[in-house]
Amino acid sequence: MNTDIDMKLDVLGTEYLILERSKNEDEILGDNSGYCDKTTKKIVIAKRDSDSTLGDWDAYRRHCLRHEIIHAFMFESGLDSIESYPLEFMVDWTAMQFRKIQRAFEIAGCER
Ligand SMILES: [Zn+2]
Repeated sequence: MNTDIDMKLDVLGTEYLILERSKNEDEILGDNSGYCDKTTKKIVIAKRDSDSTLGDWDAYRRHCLRHEIIHAFMFESGLDSIESYPLEFMVDWTAMQFRKIQRAFEIAGCER
């Protein structure tokens, strides 16, 4: 089964390509679960390794994809010069809380 995502995503007016690749197919990926390349406007998410012990790979893959998409939004907002640790913290926090914030906006009637 071909699980490559290969889709385009508009990030604040800039087109990003989202790809799902194995470590062999993408040499930059290494042991990471994904990365966001602001220079090539590309998000790459790792395919499941044959030795992965995660019970719900798809949930993990979506978690990684959310994380990298938030990176893209931050890059396109000019927030890519923040030091790595606080940036990763902010990216993870935003990716994890986004749906709850969106729901709070909807309940309060201020989502737009
Ligand atoms: Zn990150």
